[in-house]
Amino acid sequence: MLTTLLSNYVATGRLVLASWQQDLKTREKALEQVSSNFTSSGKLSLPQNLMWNVIMYCVFVMALFPSTQMSQDMYRFTCLHFLAPLLVGHLTFYRYRFGSKLWTHLTPTSWVVWTSHFAAVTGVALAGLTPTAALYIAGLVVDPYLPESCRGHVHFSLQDHERSLQASVYFFWILAAVLLVTLPVWKRGYELNMSYAGKQGEESTISYPELVMDLLYQTSGAPSTVYFATLFITIVQEKFGLRVHFVHIFMAAMDGLCSNFTLQYNYNIFHELFHRIPAFYNMVHREHHMPKSIFPANSGTALWEDYAHGGFANFAAVFLFVVPFFGLQLIFGGLSFIPHTMFPWSALAHWHPLHHTAQADIYSNGVPSAIDKQRSTFYKTHAPRLKEISIMFRNMFLPDLVALAMMIFVGAIFHYGFGTGLFHLDWSSSIQTV
Ligand SMILES: [Zn+2]
Ligand SMILES: [Zn+2]
Repeated sequence: MLTTLLSNYVATGRLVLASWQQDLKTREKALEQVSSNFTSSGKLSLPQNLMWNVIMYCVFVMALFPSTQMSQDMYRFTCLHFLAPLLVGHLTFYRYRFGSKLWTHLTPTSWVVWTSHFAAVTGVALAGLTPTAALYIAGLVVDPYLPESCRGHVHFSLQDHERSLQASVYFFWILAAVLLVTLPVWKRGYELNMSYAGKQGEESTISYPELVMDLLYQTSGAPSTVYFATLFITIVQEKFGLRVHFVHIFMAAMDGLCSNFTLQYNYNIFHELFHRIPAFYNMVHREHHMPKSIFPANSGTALWEDYAHGGFANFAAVFLFVVPFFGLQLIFGGLSFIPHTMFPWSALAHWHPLHHTAQADIYSNGVPSAIDKQRSTFYKTHAPRLKEISIMFRNMFLPDLVALAMMIFVGAIFHYGFGTGLFHLDWSSSIQTV
């Protein structure tokens, strides 16, 4: 198992470097190596894989949670309001999709294969973590040479992190309730998206029961990204005593602001890898594509996807989670909200919903990257016509501006509607200057 982990770490590292250098031959060879590290340990059926994914995810969060040093009340909240709905939501969906004999998939052999696949995922995760760790260390090295006003670290209380996690659970379920009562709007959005992809007849429609199941499934896993990143950052801070300095926050902000550029060098590479290796896809990305439709009440990832990225998809964005509510409001209030909304008006039609509804081979979260434009058959076939349909398909910056507007709107609801969020935090005692 250790050999699989190390071999996958090296192969993924080679693949990432080859992608940066646009060396397609080395990249394909490394991809074959990553693929064989998954297939050599046996095969899992899709229900086996997904069942173990959700069960082991719950075990993982429960086992890791005490290391955050958060309160017992928060542990109880997590089990009752996050993990229990997650398990029920996922198992209900799988029963709907795969039939009633779900438990027969949970055999000892399937567990052994799952754990060896997990070792392969951990190798990829370490490759994803390496640049983040390198940036963290680089930040510590340059910090002493910065002007005094730019030095210091950010450390919010665990109570603030607990409030942020609770808010993420409530946010997604309230959003799901709004989406549920407006379901005809999203049905129309789905059908419009399918028509943009040239689908007609039976395959271009979706029934209400399917939409309801899709929505409940996605919402039940929606807080997982905020949870994973918060667990990661609080353990790093509370258990290992490491601090996130202003310079790291600056790196994370730059990474986030230029994400259409920076994601080409990490997320897009990994995202394509997930899609091209079936066993890897089922381990870390399948849940994000199980539903036919897509709603903004979702985590933007599958259950183990953030783990596979080594913390978070970007190089440095995980540092932003040092500030409670920031990830929730910034990402799920805007950056993930807009790409995961099937707008029912063609004026707001855009790229990422087509990756979900019509399986478009475009691996950027926002607008198609240079590599997407070169390689995507969907882009080559449909782009000229799509660009006539909506300005969102023509303009590279508009989707981000719409996401920014949405983020401000959601932030205002948090602040004025619920009296919580970023601007209700105790900033003065959480920022330590030198
Ligand atoms: Zn995908
Ligand atoms: Zn997505």
